[in-house]
Amino acid sequence: MANEVAAPAGNAQASDADVKLIAGYPGPALLLDAAGSPILANAKGTGLEKALAGGAVTDIETLIGKAVDSTSIANATLTIATSRGELVLDVTAIPALDVNGAVAKVLLLARDLTMERNLRTTLVESRQRYKDLVEISSDFSWEVDAEGKFMFVSPQGALGYKAEELVGQKARAFVIDPDEYTPFPFTTSRKLDNIEMWMRNKDGSTACVIVSALPLVKNDDDSETWIGCRGNCRDVTEERESEAALARARHREQLLNYIVSQIRDEIEPHDMLMAAATASARALGAAGSRIYREDAAHDGFAVAAEYGNVEGVEDLGQKIAGLKAGDVINIDTPNWSALLTTTQYRGDVNGALAMWKPAKSEAWDDDHRLMLTDVANQLGIANEQIANHERIVALSRTDSMTGLLNRRAFYEEELPRRISRLERANQTASMFYVDMDNFKRVNDVHGHQAGDEAILFLRDMLINFSRPGDLIARLGGDEFAMWLDGIDEETSRKRAGQLIETSKQMVTMSGDEDHPLGISIGVAFFDPKSGESLDDLLARADAAMYSVKKRSKGGFEMAPPPGAPLEMPD
Ligand code: GH3
Ligand code: MG
Repeated sequence: MANEVAAPAGNAQASDADVKLIAGYPGPALLLDAAGSPILANAKGTGLEKALAGGAVTDIETLIGKAVDSTSIANATLTIATSRGELVLDVTAIPALDVNGAVAKVLLLARDLTMERNLRTTLVESRQRYKDLVEISSDFSWEVDAEGKFMFVSPQGALGYKAEELVGQKARAFVIDPDEYTPFPFTTSRKLDNIEMWMRNKDGSTACVIVSALPLVKNDDDSETWIGCRGNCRDVTEERESEAALARARHREQLLNYIVSQIRDEIEPHDMLMAAATASARALGAAGSRIYREDAAHDGFAVAAEYGNVEGVEDLGQKIAGLKAGDVINIDTPNWSALLTTTQYRGDVNGALAMWKPAKSEAWDDDHRLMLTDVANQLGIANEQIANHERIVALSRTDSMTGLLNRRAFYEEELPRRISRLERANQTASMFYVDMDNFKRVNDVHGHQAGDEAILFLRDMLINFSRPGDLIARLGGDEFAMWLDGIDEETSRKRAGQLIETSKQMVTMSGDEDHPLGISIGVAFFDPKSGESLDDLLARADAAMYSVKKRSKGGFEMAPPPGAPLEMPD
């Protein structure tokens, strides 16, 4: 029992009154004689009594000595090492004086402060810990009062404001569209976890924060009053922005893949550009699109493919000349808002890509521009490939020396096309088979180069003689062919005569007087109604030409109509 008092055996000086005196003290209490030896201890004091008797607590002995010497109360807070760890004791020594004023006894009262001391240290540490954690974080903690005003904001401030600029302000004023949040995190009456909220920074930019909040309530006798809330905001603006940028990049990549997959399977250049125009307009949500290609022949840019609504779209192609590779420009017309960028290969502009949408619709954004550039970069390669392809096709169709159609292109590509068109339109035409007379002699007498010049002379003569729509080909050596569309038999005859007349200029280039340079022409008139094959037509023209050669050279002959017996040369 706490008030039990034990007197050391053999000590006669303790009175009943002494026992009663120390029994009521809640901590260790001892009665000592003037020399400091224990006379009596209450129940909690027995441990201390033993320690004193064993001389283990010199600090207490010193304190007792001080009280005895000064005959006044002495007090000290002492840390005492024990087998169970350190004890913190608040010890008071009270001297009791006898009638002569000498110290008769000393009352020693101790209070164990160990627990209190430990609690205080822990509390201070814990406060520091939370303070440190709040301060090192880029997040901010806050507390608002019952009016929704900041009472506390992390010392480092928030949203670009200093903490003191925020304290006293309504939290709501910093939130974008505060009514969109129920409950509103800064006045919530229930716990909220990780709510995404948009706030306004001091510099006017928006901040995305993840907010968690706890309501604060005051407990009265039997009711709870909401007095505010506190919480934490984590700024995730950068994370959100990079996530969004990533998502946009992914989206662009998907669209580009779609466009590339649409054009990859197209072999024909025009089909490929059409597929690209269509797919990219769809991918960008445009009302129409147009792809331009450098038009070497006309020193400008020509429409290579277009898609969608092209009504009222001005000639955007005129703007291309002023652009540097990679430029993206906006062109506004009364009806359309267009974006235009160049296509290029190895830094050289080789075309352009334009998209447009109604003038009233939402403006083009950076994503659209990037997308357009991505597509244009693909088209830059495509345009280059098409140009190469066209160069190769052109080479394969022309005679390199004269630039005229070669035999293959003339016979295999052009004539079949012409003939089927004439058959449909029921129009006639004429085939002129032209061979130089005495050409070898030019070579032999004046040299090969003079021969070449004679060939080029004849080429120019034929070109000057021709009309739009006529075809001229060099079949090989000194043989040429001319195809005159939509001409009747009589006119054919007349024109062959004119050509022979003109060819007389060639005589100046002759090898020698006995072998005048000139031409022989065989003319085969073509009537689609005859059903004559191309081979037969050519054979008639050839035979007519040889007939001239055989006769006298320097003239023309009309081939007999199809089906008539051929006059074979010897
Ligand atoms: P004919 O009057 O019967 O037509 O005889 P020709 O002298 O014109 O000789 P022919 O048509 O039989 O032969 C054409 C010659 O043209 C043969 C060849 O040496 C020469 N030749 C072919 N291609 C070229 C060329 O590109 N340049 C030059 N200089 N000569 C060529
Ligand atoms: Mg010849």
